[in-house]
Amino acid sequence: MTFDDLNLNKSLRSALKELGYEKPTTIQEKAFSVVMSGRDMLGIAQTGTGKTLAYLLPCLKQWTFSKDKNPTILIVVPTRELVAQVVEEVKALTMYMDVKVVGVYGGTNMNTQMAVLREGLDILVATPGRLLDLSLNGTVKLKLVKKFIIDEVDEMLSLGFRPQLVRVMDFLATNRQNLMFSATMTDEVSVLINDFFNAPQIIEAAPTGTPLDKIQQTAYNVPNFNTKVNLVKMLLANSTELTKVLIFMENKKLADYLFEQLEAEFPEKIGVIHSNKAQNNRFNTVNSFKDGNYRILIATDIIARGLDIAEVSHVINLDTPDIAEDYMHRIGRTGRADKTGISITFTTAKEMEYRDAIETLMDRKIEILPLPEGLVFSDVLIDDEKPKVNMKIIQVKLPKKDAGGGAFHEKLDKNKKVNVRVSRSDKMKQKYKKPKTRGAKK
Ligand code: AMP
Repeated sequence: MTFDDLNLNKSLRSALKELGYEKPTTIQEKAFSVVMSGRDMLGIAQTGTGKTLAYLLPCLKQWTFSKDKNPTILIVVPTRELVAQVVEEVKALTMYMDVKVVGVYGGTNMNTQMAVLREGLDILVATPGRLLDLSLNGTVKLKLVKKFIIDEVDEMLSLGFRPQLVRVMDFLATNRQNLMFSATMTDEVSVLINDFFNAPQIIEAAPTGTPLDKIQQTAYNVPNFNTKVNLVKMLLANSTELTKVLIFMENKKLADYLFEQLEAEFPEKIGVIHSNKAQNNRFNTVNSFKDGNYRILIATDIIARGLDIAEVSHVINLDTPDIAEDYMHRIGRTGRADKTGISITFTTAKEMEYRDAIETLMDRKIEILPLPEGLVFSDVLIDDEKPKVNMKIIQVKLPKKDAGGGAFHEKLDKNKKVNVRVSRSDKMKQKYKKPKTRGAKK
């Protein structure tokens, strides 16, 4: 199939030509007729399969000019990076069309975004929280939305965005078309579909030809974190093949730590991104890596999700992810669009079971490489690796207040008397049975 078979209008065809795309990918081919038919759809596809264009192409083919200032196409994505990326793809694809696209996301000034939205737009790309805020305060009205797209829905749900998504749907008209993309079919995804979608057609990017076939997967068995740091330093220093290297870390603290360790040896050639970094800083860092100014980019899972960076030569997993799907997402950053790539995963004894789970999921083995000669083994453990000292909590029994303790003895009878104060006048009353004072007489 070629793009000509899709009967696209001239502006879209020219844009595709300009972008150098020759034929539709599997998911683009499959999604096209479903979206055109107006049915709800769930596409099972990872990033790198061309899923963004899979919904953009038919949506833009069906798009008609509207004088209204509110959007007719709404695309919701989990991260700010993905907002920027989708906005870029829409702009590229509509280079010969008069379509205005706006991207909004949290963590930045809402007033600026409100001002831009008030000028009017056709396509809105947004993260769920900010979209909800802008709908609640009335800046953007979603009643005209004809195409509602939720991208990376599995990721969105695992980030806890379900409540925002559901509330956003209250602002939409019921006669819309729902299109949803997910890398995997999870229980949460299927519940969401059952609750809000109308008998969606499910399509899938062909499992063969996924990036997996184009990635040479390797692994090293490494005793601990600091030896992993020594190994990554050694690989980066010794191999000129590692030209564009994406390093995954399990959390931001370790990502910053590794950055400090590597920065001295590769000055000005390395960047780090995670959720604690300011938005601008994240954009600039990713762009420096894309442009080739940085050779190395250190990232955590969430931030790297959906990042489209061409020609990543190597993905290095400093940890072996405990969720097998995360591994697939990570290595999918290399070997994109007709390119081949290499993944290198470091595994400690404790992480060995995770690697087994990954191999089971893929139904293929990862090649284990011998540790290079000269590697310096470290025996300095990081906090997470130190054995946990399990102190047994000794319950100290306190004596009950009235139970008596060791130094307690029974009172003698004479000491058991309770002092009850009786006033003199009452004593007199009891004795003489008649009032004694003037007041009492009355
Ligand atoms: P996605 O899966 O949407 O993140 O897309 C992955 C990459 O593939 C992006 O850089 C797209 O620009 C590119 N791409 C999308 N469709 C095609 C196509 N038909 N031919 C070649 N590259 C494409």
